[in-house]
Amino acid sequence: MKTQDHISIDGAQGEGGGQVLRSSLALSLVTGRAFEIVNIRAGRKKPGLLRQHLTAVTAAARVGGAEVEGADPRSTSLRFRPGAVGPIDAEFAVGTAGSTTLVLQTVLPALLTASGPSKIRLEGGTHNPFAPPFDFLEKTFLPLIARMGPKVTVALERPGFFPAGGGKFTVTIEPSEALKRIDLLERGGIHQRRAVARVAGGVPRRVAEREVRDIARRLSMKPTDCHIEEVTDSLGPGNIVTIELESDAVTEVFTGFGERGVPAESVAQSAVKRARKYIASDAPVGEYLADQLLLPMAIAGGGSFRTLPPTRHTLTNADVIRAFLDVDIDIRKETRETWRVTIETTGDDR
Ligand code: ATP
Repeated sequence: MKTQDHISIDGAQGEGGGQVLRSSLALSLVTGRAFEIVNIRAGRKKPGLLRQHLTAVTAAARVGGAEVEGADPRSTSLRFRPGAVGPIDAEFAVGTAGSTTLVLQTVLPALLTASGPSKIRLEGGTHNPFAPPFDFLEKTFLPLIARMGPKVTVALERPGFFPAGGGKFTVTIEPSEALKRIDLLERGGIHQRRAVARVAGGVPRRVAEREVRDIARRLSMKPTDCHIEEVTDSLGPGNIVTIELESDAVTEVFTGFGERGVPAESVAQSAVKRARKYIASDAPVGEYLADQLLLPMAIAGGGSFRTLPPTRHTLTNADVIRAFLDVDIDIRKETRETWRVTIETTGDDR
């Protein structure tokens, strides 16, 4: 593999997690620029490439016909040289309960402007703590991508929870020639609120009943806006609650993940806490959405949004993007609760 024009990425920077790798893969596909990453996930208890990350590398290599070195279990360095990016019709199985939505996060940016439509079938976890749950992808992230031009539809075949996994969903991507700039500066009123508690694989219905009761009480929600879903076909047990807040600008989804030994009310409260923090600010973009919007906005050549105080994920992702693209990402405090992020192209190398 040639080494000239390699971008060097330190996987230990900032957050030091899987996102540094995933964003590098995504940006490499979009720009056609090769990169080398060392210290992969150095900030995590089990550093190096785990199944989810290896699947992301495999998927990225497929999309970009890439030459890859170092894609081995627990590897802490990787070289990736993309060839021609093309649409795909493919299946990727994480093989564990590792997050499928994060695998999608890796290849989606390049496929949004590919020369034709793509279809991807993913298998693994669909509702994982520390990753975008399927509902967030469907209701929060993809509608914003649609406003940028491409149409991405997702269909959940079966949810997959940790530790059993086995979730499945399909993604259909109708690309557009380029991504349009969007600006999310005003939230407008929250005109719809909805809570859903899901139980799967033998977790009793009364857990979900307690969760929605707690959410309804804490957020003064009407019983008609609270729903229970009993999943009958999952491979193992699972429990999550989601709170959806729909405003003029965006539908935000806040999630609480059930765990053995954690009372239903605590699961409900973790989602309520995030929802309340969002409601109390008047920012349209929540803290998870913030780090995920940077990449499509940078590819679009510009965009802006108001958000909650930036997380380390957001700050780190901005640094990784700056390594690949000539963009100015300005992250500025506005008030005690809100920050403004503005992305503008500085060169014309894209
Ligand atoms: P690591 O590989 O280091 O173990 P990871 O691969 O799970 O970590 P991170 O680098 O921690 O991934 O990135 C997690 C991503 O998931 C971020 O983009 C973050 O915004 C998103 N995310 C985490 N929790 C949620 C949530 N509840 N809702 C929406 N998105 C989420």
